[in-house]
Amino acid sequence: MKNVTVIGAGTMGNGIAHVFAQSGFNVTLVDVQETALEKAIATIGRNLDRLIKKEKISEADKAATLQRIASSTDIAEGAAHADLVVEAATERLDLKLSIFKAMDAAAPSHCILATNTSSISITEIAAATARPEKVIGMHFMNPVPVMKLIEVIRGYATSDVTCASIMELSKSLGKAPVEVNDYPGFVANRILMPMINEAVITLQEGVATVDAIDTVMKLGMAHPMGPLQLADFIGLDVCLSILRVLHEGLGQPKYAPCPLLVNMVNAGHLGVKSGQGFYLHTRGSKELVVAPFFQ
Ligand code: NAD
Repeated sequence: MKNVTVIGAGTMGNGIAHVFAQSGFNVTLVDVQETALEKAIATIGRNLDRLIKKEKISEADKAATLQRIASSTDIAEGAAHADLVVEAATERLDLKLSIFKAMDAAAPSHCILATNTSSISITEIAAATARPEKVIGMHFMNPVPVMKLIEVIRGYATSDVTCASIMELSKSLGKAPVEVNDYPGFVANRILMPMINEAVITLQEGVATVDAIDTVMKLGMAHPMGPLQLADFIGLDVCLSILRVLHEGLGQPKYAPCPLLVNMVNAGHLGVKSGQGFYLHTRGSKELVVAPFFQ
């Protein structure tokens, strides 16, 4: 594999493009919004600068990495020469199905089609294509350049060859891939999201403050950040949509999204990406300030 196309240049897409380009792959980053592409390239540049400061890469490595990334607003053009496509667009089933149909029509027949979905069925996405055996989940963690894990998800029809090749490829990126089967939420989010939801319910019931809940989980369970801070980081809209998939897919009331989480998403308080969630997020500031609503 040499040519990788990444569809969606948001939080995850820029990190995925970064990691592939830094490992020597030719990357084409595709988004419907030109501004998202510009923002993604700027973010990759800043993240590479951070690696230079830490003396992990040189200026020349940064230049070579950026040179390996092309961008496009056209899926057909972006996927035409791809050996692998990794889709990291907005978490919506209808959108993913239409993107996979377009990728299937545009990409060469040997190309593997992967999705970074947090919760949508790989089997259902694969069924929208004429190559379900070459469709697989490649679930990177956020922030992609830092986090080691890739959850590799086998759909009902994913072939052994496809799975083995994505496991190998993930290792070549310096990541640690773990193979799991296609059930709602896979492993990571099936376990993480109920914990985040319970933290929001605990807050809603007034059991403890934002700061107290996160401190208990950080100091008591040795988590690097509390569940509410982590939810802000992931995006509250992303958390809500995953909980809805778990609730619908597993059919148990314990997965029902907390009404406070639903309200926050409806109010546009989505966490880091909107500047406010359980905490305030001011660009350039690392100070943890609880949002005014919870003070
Ligand atoms: P995001 O909202 O930051 O970015 C999504 C991008 O997709 C946007 O730039 C949008 O313009 C683009 N897009 C929308 N429709 C498109 C189309 N038709 N073609 C090309 N681009 C299109 O979202 P994100 O947080 O990066 O999430 C992307 C995917 O990764 C989702 O499936 C999400 O569930 C998954 N994921 C997210 C996280 C996380 O922590 N945020 C972690 C793991 C996986």
